[in-house]
Amino acid sequence: MMSPRISLLLSASALLAACATTLNAPTLPMVDTHAARTMVAVHGEALWPGWAEDDRAVLLVAKEAEYLLCAPQQQGFVAVGTEPVTGCSRQTRPVQTPADIAAPSEIGDVLVASIGLPDALGADGIDWQLTLAHELFHSWQDRMPGYNAAVMEVTSRLAPADAGDAGWMLTYPFPYAEAATAEAFAPMAAAAHTYLAATDQAARRAAIVDYLAARHAAEAQIGHEDWLYYEFQAGQEGVARWTELALAQRMAQDDPRYVDAFTERRGGLATSLRAIDRQGIGMWRRNVFYVYGAIEADMLDTLDPVWRLDYPARPFALGEHLQQRLD
Ligand SMILES: [Zn+2]
Repeated sequence: MMSPRISLLLSASALLAACATTLNAPTLPMVDTHAARTMVAVHGEALWPGWAEDDRAVLLVAKEAEYLLCAPQQQGFVAVGTEPVTGCSRQTRPVQTPADIAAPSEIGDVLVASIGLPDALGADGIDWQLTLAHELFHSWQDRMPGYNAAVMEVTSRLAPADAGDAGWMLTYPFPYAEAATAEAFAPMAAAAHTYLAATDQAARRAAIVDYLAARHAAEAQIGHEDWLYYEFQAGQEGVARWTELALAQRMAQDDPRYVDAFTERRGGLATSLRAIDRQGIGMWRRNVFYVYGAIEADMLDTLDPVWRLDYPARPFALGEHLQQRLD
């Protein structure tokens, strides 16, 4: 039987936990959560038709509990009324997710953007908002018609036979550190730099033509199977990274607080290419594909914004989308 002293300690700690929940609740980034959901509601639809109709559910992982917002009631969660800033339903459960998560998750029958607090992610304010928007985009990707079929096809071609889950997507043995890979990417980087620095449409288009030629040569050198992994990551993560940039750009038109976020993200593409060149693809690993994929999405938008209508049916084929728009 539990001693009265232990019982007293336990009830004291339960009380403290309850106090912490109450005390910490106002420090949750609800204003930034609301801002991220609102920017998707206002600008998301023009970027990705159907996105704004999404329920944009969020799992906020705090220190004392996890909060599921803007989602139908799920098993294992306790409903705690309406969250005043977002106006959304709020449910809570004990913490079971890493504090620094930023990833789409499936909870019961809903796809949610799971995200840790700004402290845990090392990003606050607008940067945290755009990180949440990135994860909301991933949740939306899963609902795009054709997207899951494309993921299944890539999985059937690239995942090891004994892969039980999606972990292979992070550990696929792409030849990051091989000298031939660096050689294959160097002409792509050169053309991408020219594209990013170009100030008129003719120069941009000429740089895209050079880039695509370098891309075809890189595919031939690296091999079609490994290149499919490039296409997969560029199409999934690069386009999500570009979506952050596109949202920041649209927000900045009416709200000067977003100008820096846009400028940093656009300028960050060339900065990242230089860092990859300096530090090596072996160091950056799959993060390299975020950068190239975002640049390719930007190139596609420069050539023809309508590419975004074609994306859901062929999400892991940015090279084909580019070729189609240059033919
Ligand atoms: Zn992502």
